[in-house]
Amino acid sequence: MKEGLEELRKKANTELDSAVCREELLAIKTRYLGRKGLLTQFLRKLKDVPAEARPALGQLSNVIKESLSRRTEERLKNVGLVKKDGILQEEKIDVTLPGRGVEYGKIHPVTRVSNEICEIFSILGFNVVEGPEVELDYYNFEALNIPKDHPARDMQDTFYVTDDVVLRTHTSPVQIRVMEKEQPPIRIISPGKVYRPDSDISHTPMFHQIEGLLVDKGITFGDLKGILTFFLHEVFGKDTLLRFRPSFFPFTEPSAEVDIQCVMCHGAGCSVCGQSGWLEILGSGMVDPEVFKTVGYDPEAVSGFAFGLGLERIAMLKYGISDIRLFFENDQKFLKQF
Ligand SMILES: [Zn+2]
Repeated sequence: MKEGLEELRKKANTELDSAVCREELLAIKTRYLGRKGLLTQFLRKLKDVPAEARPALGQLSNVIKESLSRRTEERLKNVGLVKKDGILQEEKIDVTLPGRGVEYGKIHPVTRVSNEICEIFSILGFNVVEGPEVELDYYNFEALNIPKDHPARDMQDTFYVTDDVVLRTHTSPVQIRVMEKEQPPIRIISPGKVYRPDSDISHTPMFHQIEGLLVDKGITFGDLKGILTFFLHEVFGKDTLLRFRPSFFPFTEPSAEVDIQCVMCHGAGCSVCGQSGWLEILGSGMVDPEVFKTVGYDPEAVSGFAFGLGLERIAMLKYGISDIRLFFENDQKFLKQF
């Protein structure tokens, strides 16, 4: 019987030593020392042992019980520590490591150019106004002296939503919306998105324009030249040469396109300017009396001029970008340069 007890102690110790977690240790403890445990079962057999041998066996089983309890407690402490160490190791933070830099966004080059132009015209007393991108045919064409059968409608391909609703093809409808609501003097500048079904190296189906309008008593073509010259010198530099070329737009009369001397070759001729030495920058003209009549102004009493330009084109020339599509690819490497 004594051998049996020793055997039991040995087995229990081996199991306790190889246990790897708290739950396992507690299970071993219960298996040996619990009320129905192996040691308890063993003690029950003491009654079958001769009386003189009982005290020694009883003492031994108490010693074993205590030693197993102690061993279990010790092991429990250890697995706890091991576990804690593991957690500490896992969650360790090296406070000496350099931080991860915060990525700052940049203002898109088209927005930059738009903001810059709005600022220049603000100095001259122009207000910034915006209009809808989904526009009535009336504002986009008809009120701008482009009736349904007018050949000028062939000049622009258009996204039609319905027969009467279009995605605006230019920012000019804003002129009409403002003149319908307000009386002269009017000085507005209107940036925004416009849409045409074109897509290649210099065209995208959506692009940005900025429109300007000035209406007052006694406004002449000289005012148009003066203000646009000031504006283009602010954007491209005071030494930039300009040229006004006669042109045609249904809503202005007379009309002029404005060129600047090529910013790449300074007039010598290169691929950007098609060897001409000049770059077409904007369209402009004196507001057509028909447009004034449409909004209820008296063309004998007031006069004015309007102009429009593409923002991507200005940004391309200003920053030397060769493909308009780069503006809309949202490539971080491209956008971060500005
Ligand atoms: Zn050139």
